[in-house]
Amino acid sequence: MLIYFVTFLSFVVFYKFSLPIKQLPPWCNEIKLLFFRFLEDLSVLLPSAKSLKSALSIYFSSNMSSKTKRKCYNKLNTKPTEKIETATTIEPSLLDLPDLALETILEKLEPTDLCKMACVSTYLRDVCLTDHLWKQHMQKKWGKIVGLAAKNEWLLHVASQKHILDEEARRGFLSKLWPVMTFQFNDDKKASQSPVTSSIASCYKALETGKFWFPAQVFNRENGHVGFIMSCYDAELSYDSQTDTFDARYPPHGPRAMAEESGVTWDRLREAPVDYSPHDLLTSTCLNDLRPKDHIEIQWRRNKQFPYGWWYGVIGHLESCDANDTYCRCHESDTVVLEFKQYALGSRWRHMTINRRDHREEGNETEGFYGGIKKLENKDEISMWQRFWPCNILE
Ligand SMILES: [Zn+2]
Repeated sequence: MLIYFVTFLSFVVFYKFSLPIKQLPPWCNEIKLLFFRFLEDLSVLLPSAKSLKSALSIYFSSNMSSKTKRKCYNKLNTKPTEKIETATTIEPSLLDLPDLALETILEKLEPTDLCKMACVSTYLRDVCLTDHLWKQHMQKKWGKIVGLAAKNEWLLHVASQKHILDEEARRGFLSKLWPVMTFQFNDDKKASQSPVTSSIASCYKALETGKFWFPAQVFNRENGHVGFIMSCYDAELSYDSQTDTFDARYPPHGPRAMAEESGVTWDRLREAPVDYSPHDLLTSTCLNDLRPKDHIEIQWRRNKQFPYGWWYGVIGHLESCDANDTYCRCHESDTVVLEFKQYALGSRWRHMTINRRDHREEGNETEGFYGGIKKLENKDEISMWQRFWPCNILE
């Protein structure tokens, strides 16, 4: 009996004088509600989100039960009705997840869902906009056409925007411009207020909203124009998410106005070369290796004021060769025959010869100028060109 009495007394003394556990601030509950409201919305939009929500519910119900009980236990000195309320109103919080679990969940979300999550709280905004999470999305959607050249252009764009901001900050306008960073692709008003940063998320958003015109190359420019079949020209592109196509702006040809085109599809694009202007003559490094049947692309321009475009061709045999592989010695000749088989036999565009020893740029105002040559080594590059082969041979 004495043992029971001492135990009970110890318990009363311990409970009476133990430190009270501090309650979470009210905004924590708001975050929880926002998060689960978000998951409800997400469940409607994405079937995969249902499993995510279920998984989280299981996690929370198992992980939080002990915390709930602990909090209820510390509320024993309150009224009985309050005990019941505490037990029924405590909800799980996303912020209670371990970092690794939270990161794993966020990695499963699509870009638009990551953006919604970023709006829940400042903490989640910082987590959801990290480069780590956006790198995969950038690669998946933009990896084939946004290369190093476009990324360099993006950094220049960011630097120019920062310069404008610094100017505005000096004038005292900055605090009024961006009170909170918002990140909604489809809200132009908010998007225009978001600060441009060098982060991958910021770049992704600028691409997705079409606000960033990035450099790339377009096959068969001005789609259907017979003068550009089997060519690839440099352009600036802007994405139109409504049509899932691009607007293109081509550098002007001399005094002509800049050509524009809408509705450019993904399959007509490839990334732009690094440190390259369409007015730069490429130094040909493959001349000594060129053999008949090799696939090439070559720079060509109508006159020296125009930018170069890239044109597809193959290496042909010399007139003196009977094209028999056993006896062919064309690769030993200084003269290299370029064949453009998309043009009919007899067309002035069908053949061109260059000297492999000193070729730089050859041509005239009538035939145009043939510049640097690249040998296509990659099967994917070759098949990319051959997808655009015309139904009818050109004259
Ligand atoms: Zn030959």
